[in-house]
Amino acid sequence: MPRVTHFLFILRQLRPSVSPVWRAQGLGKPRQVNGGDCPAKWHAVQSVATAKGGLTLNLHEYQSKRIFANFGIPIPDGVVAATPAEARDAATRLGGAVVVKSQVLVGGRGKAGGIKLAKTPDDAEEAAAAILGMSIKGLTVKKVLVDQAADIKTEIYLGAVLDRARGRVVLMASSEGGIDIEQVAAETPDKIITVPVHPFLGLRDHQARILAEGIDLPKEHTRRFTAIAKSLYNAYVSSDASLAEINPLVITGSGDLLAVDGKISLDDSALFRHPDLAELRDPDAEDASEQEARRFGLSYIQLDGEIGCMVNGAGLAMATMDIVKLYGGSPANFLDIGGGAQADKVAAALRLILADTRVKAVLINIFGGITRCDEVARGILDAIATLDVNVPFVVRLVGTNEEEGRQILSEANLATASSLADAARKAVAAAEGETA
Ligand code: GDP
Ligand code: MN
Repeated sequence: MPRVTHFLFILRQLRPSVSPVWRAQGLGKPRQVNGGDCPAKWHAVQSVATAKGGLTLNLHEYQSKRIFANFGIPIPDGVVAATPAEARDAATRLGGAVVVKSQVLVGGRGKAGGIKLAKTPDDAEEAAAAILGMSIKGLTVKKVLVDQAADIKTEIYLGAVLDRARGRVVLMASSEGGIDIEQVAAETPDKIITVPVHPFLGLRDHQARILAEGIDLPKEHTRRFTAIAKSLYNAYVSSDASLAEINPLVITGSGDLLAVDGKISLDDSALFRHPDLAELRDPDAEDASEQEARRFGLSYIQLDGEIGCMVNGAGLAMATMDIVKLYGGSPANFLDIGGGAQADKVAAALRLILADTRVKAVLINIFGGITRCDEVARGILDAIATLDVNVPFVVRLVGTNEEEGRQILSEANLATASSLADAARKAVAAAEGETA
């Protein structure tokens, strides 16, 4: 949890105009991720933040591969379909065998039955009928990608991520393609070869050769592999990505290299520079709390504790989480309502917190500056009026209009606290009272 919040903190401090490459220049606390046990650790930290915080925009396979293609990476011909009939037409148009692939934002679709080979348009229609509407790891499939089937001889992994410990974007390759890189990292970490890329020089030929040799790529493919690795790096940097991976990059029977799967995660903080990419967001793919948080401009990360925290300011939010821990509690979330929050934003934040059934007490910690404590107090009451509240609240308001704020709350019989320590202690006690 501290890692996730630290990650978030760094990102927020650097908002809004710093690209990942600049960010890589020694900013951020060094973290050992590339020692024996590997870059995927960072990867895992990132995916927690990705899954919960909306700090990144994850693109679908078909979107990611189109970006790859724009940078010169060979991909199979393909068509997106939303109905079995469309899949059939697509297969007819593509000709020959196709592969019908669910477009959901999780890995391991193959194992989950979300990817099927089809020899004829009839088969493709049938495969699409089976896959569309299917639930994969809790996500409903609404679209499939119909790709010309590749004649796969070898599967390779090739990816680009930001490695904070090295302060560089790192290219990673593995001969163990087609399976989760986290799994390779856990089981056979020596099978992952990495090279750090200098931000001004870009990926050099000799570095691509280090990757190629490291994964025992047959020599005749080195030139094309090098071109693809460079294109991947360029795609990563140009789109302000936090992750770009091809898994698998395949060698076909005819000796071509082809990106059969693709995944790009974009850095939310840089999306203002990429309006075309920002439009790729698929609202169907986000859970309801992420959408709600985004709509109201809240930074919200769900965690697994029982004390819901609503705070203004990222630093104060983290201090609040720390102090909750100090008094023996565990925060249910990170939530920064930002500066100058009005009543409707406060109400939205409380709805998010209370929608989490694990929350046993709510701690509100507001430092009034531009944010006015009376506004916040009114927002709290608005929210309580419209929600089914059955957990205790502890509120600490300090700063602009704090008297008025406290007045409003005490009229509504809500517990207020004099200091942050007092508030945290009361919230922890209240949460324990609930469980007991
Ligand atoms: P993921 O399971 O979500 O990572 O989806 P992928 O697109 O990586 O596909 C999973 C696996 O399906 C790949 O590793 C391949 O083994 C297989 N696969 C995907 N596309 C094709 C294809 O065009 N032809 C063949 N023969 N296999 C494929
Ligand atoms: Mn894959």
